[in-house]
Amino acid sequence: MDEEVFEKYMKAGEIAARVKNDVLNRVRPGMRLIDIARFVEDRIRALGGQLAFPCNLSVDSTAAHYTPEPPDTDVVEESSVLKMDLGVHVDGYIADTALTISFDPQNEPLIEATRRTLDEALRSIRPGLSFYKLGGVIEDTARSYGFNTIKNLSGHSLGHYQIHAGEVIPNHRDRLTRGSFRDGGAYAIEPFLTPGIGLVADSDRVTIYALRPRGKLRRLSEEERRLFERILGERRALPFTLRWYAEGPEEYYRLKEVVEGLARRGYAIEYPVMIEVSGERVAQFEETVVIYRGVVYVTTRSGYS
Ligand code: MN
Ligand code: MN
Repeated sequence: MDEEVFEKYMKAGEIAARVKNDVLNRVRPGMRLIDIARFVEDRIRALGGQLAFPCNLSVDSTAAHYTPEPPDTDVVEESSVLKMDLGVHVDGYIADTALTISFDPQNEPLIEATRRTLDEALRSIRPGLSFYKLGGVIEDTARSYGFNTIKNLSGHSLGHYQIHAGEVIPNHRDRLTRGSFRDGGAYAIEPFLTPGIGLVADSDRVTIYALRPRGKLRRLSEEERRLFERILGERRALPFTLRWYAEGPEEYYRLKEVVEGLARRGYAIEYPVMIEVSGERVAQFEETVVIYRGVVYVTTRSGYS
């Protein structure tokens, strides 16, 4: 990693940290999720960042991959366990970070345990530490607070314009895990904790997609080709929501049919909303880490949160 790349990772992280801080000062029970998502996305752009993915706002047993879609009537409830996962990129260098908010003290033990589990994990990271060992730290810390981690959700390495760059950083002792932290690497560390059994399953709802860039578009209809090219120019293979491309609910659901057609034929990927299978609440915290010249930087915390 050269210095220019390092600076871009740091800038993306600083923007993400500021947006987290700004949104924490605004979210109140009764706020619509769509207004929170728009605030986050507008703020990222206003601070000079680009959107690495749509703002995810996953509530209670919904663990990940929900971004608001019409009719946009969902609001933050007093009892909600609200996970906000946001992504910033600067010239393709990504900051991926998440936090959990609740206004009900009953949720505090779960949220505090998740925060501390991430802190413990971040303190352990050094070049050469195996991902397997980090998974052990995460699992043991979560257990010490009486919670399970979600075993089929993981951290990941980050690449240029790539949110999941190939390496998996487990949230438990996963014997199949290979690899270790190395100098020059960028990683997202993201424990998910739950009082439930600790597994998620895909639901049949999809609100987030990504394109699979391919050359041959001959098999596509005129409408499909137009949407594919419009989104590809802006997003490459980065995830998107059709909220960004539709004027209103009617257009949103029409474009959704078009993208579903693209997905069926391998031109797009669907990211289904994921739900904890025992129906229990889920909390998540996530930070991005860059190792540069032997030093571990938590880019998404720099001085703000
Ligand atoms: Mn994330
Ligand atoms: Mn992530």
